[in-house]
Amino acid sequence: MNLLLIRLIIFAVLFFAGLKLYRMYREWKLDREGPQQEGEASGNRMVRCRWCQVHLPEDDALREKGDWFCSGDHRDKYLSEQHEEQREQNKDD
Ligand SMILES: [Zn+2]
Repeated sequence: MNLLLIRLIIFAVLFFAGLKLYRMYREWKLDREGPQQEGEASGNRMVRCRWCQVHLPEDDALREKGDWFCSGDHRDKYLSEQHEEQREQNKDD
């Protein structure tokens, strides 16, 4: 009976020690990650698709040569049109 009681006490002590360590770790982690999360929130701004003028979050947008696009399809259309304009300008020369 005594052995069982001692085991129970050891398990209880280990359990609470682990719980305390976990809480300390979580607080330590929150302290370190706190400022980074604020930075991410402020960096989540809206941009406009160069092709269709639709607004979307920067995270979902594609960037190509300083311009923003809502999809790879619109990026390709815009870039191919730019190439055609350049070709026509070359013809005029
Ligand atoms: Zn678009």
